[in-house]
Amino acid sequence: MKVLLIYPKIPETFWSYKYALRFIRKRSAFPPLGLLTIAALLPDTWSVRLVDENVDMLMDDDLIGIDFAFISAMTIQRQSAMDVIDRCREMGIKTVVGGPLFSAEPDAFAHVDHRVLDEAECTLPAFLADIQGGEPKKIYRAESYPDIRLSPVPVWSLIKHHHYASLSIQYSRGCPFNCDFCNVTALFGRVPRVKSPQQVIHELDVIYRMGWRGTIFFVDDNFIGNKKALKQGLLPALIAWRKGKKGCVFLTESSIDLADDPELMTLMVQAGFDSVFIGIESPDETSLSECHKFHNQNRNLLQDIRIIHRSGLQVMGGFIVGFDNDSPSIFQRQINFIQRSGIVTAMVGLLQAPPGTRLFERLSREKRVCSDFSGDNVDGRTNIIPAMGMRRLSEGYRAMMHQLYSPRIYYQRIRTTLREIRVPKVNNPPDWQHTLAFFRAAVHLGILGKERWQYWQLLIWTMIRRPRMLPLAVTLAILGRHYRRMCEVHIQNMA
Ligand code: SF4
Repeated sequence: MKVLLIYPKIPETFWSYKYALRFIRKRSAFPPLGLLTIAALLPDTWSVRLVDENVDMLMDDDLIGIDFAFISAMTIQRQSAMDVIDRCREMGIKTVVGGPLFSAEPDAFAHVDHRVLDEAECTLPAFLADIQGGEPKKIYRAESYPDIRLSPVPVWSLIKHHHYASLSIQYSRGCPFNCDFCNVTALFGRVPRVKSPQQVIHELDVIYRMGWRGTIFFVDDNFIGNKKALKQGLLPALIAWRKGKKGCVFLTESSIDLADDPELMTLMVQAGFDSVFIGIESPDETSLSECHKFHNQNRNLLQDIRIIHRSGLQVMGGFIVGFDNDSPSIFQRQINFIQRSGIVTAMVGLLQAPPGTRLFERLSREKRVCSDFSGDNVDGRTNIIPAMGMRRLSEGYRAMMHQLYSPRIYYQRIRTTLREIRVPKVNNPPDWQHTLAFFRAAVHLGILGKERWQYWQLLIWTMIRRPRMLPLAVTLAILGRHYRRMCEVHIQNMA
């Protein structure tokens, strides 16, 4: 059997890092980890190739002579996934789809030959058995969650890893919390399931043996969902693994209660984590209550962020405006909060209701779901009718984003972070691409950029006050170019 795995194009988004990747000559931010795991679940006798449209063009020649095209996609890839499906169907190739987009909206893809949905460890074996029997079904759904301790090592040899800015590992699935706008619990449940430390170390060994020394993203939605397993299992194993090795800095996502656990933060830093994305959502207690983000309530969130920064972990934050409880003052309050926190990477989006969430159910009942969920948190769009009115929400959002990502305000946040954060223990060893990025930044930000004044001020300030933070300062300045460009694109589209 000949199979082509296809990862559709990701549009320009906050997380695509398109305008920053140019500085380090990479083609994509993250590899298609789901498809690499699917490849490991397919029979050894099958011939399997992969085309990631974010790295290579999908040519007609790639499709000639194959038996199945396996397509995996997130919601953000909806349009490009539909284009790939149409193209395959025109060429008479059978399509098999799976992944978050298709699992959340199966009815929108009823024309696809086979929908193998939910977690592939559960549904793919049944599909493969039916192919063997000659009668594969149209749709496969899981009735339970798989034990991910049995999940195989992704087949990394299918990609050219040097095209990616970071590689990925998944340690856990599921989150113990239940924020009403989040589809993680709908997809993966509320009981975090974790891989064994040996499994993760084996995956890391494979990546390290390929020659990778750069960033590795633990793609868990809440890495600290099972703290005991981390403290007694994975983190000590990662600390031991790291001894005598170079590079391989980790980042992940977690909930804010990380700040309550100094031991956990210390272990994470020792294990090589240098940054963490946290859903902060709102400084407004009533909005936090509205979305059932109870674990963010009754806390000093600014103090929490400071504590995490001081542990050596840079905080990236997710924020939302457009809750029913939000008054027009929310925009300025979010700006004030973000500036005071020093969170440089502040992903601020309009409230959206992903299908399958409790928010989607509630707003559907209220007849307030008005379009498809875009899957892009920062495109200035929403699929719901906001309580404050769309016009007021859009205007407030536009003004807020314009301010947050203007060079003066953005560079102020970089300084706050550099002032507060502890110098990281593990550094990526400099390679020639990063050295060249430094010179490219000098030209594009320091000479040609609108931010040239802020850029040189930041570099001089960092060299005097925090010289070991210079690579981070340059990295954040480069990321700022991407974020600002994305804001300009979306603000233009909203106008
Ligand atoms: S804490 Fe994060 S991953 Fe967990 S339910 Fe809330 S938003 Fe989703």
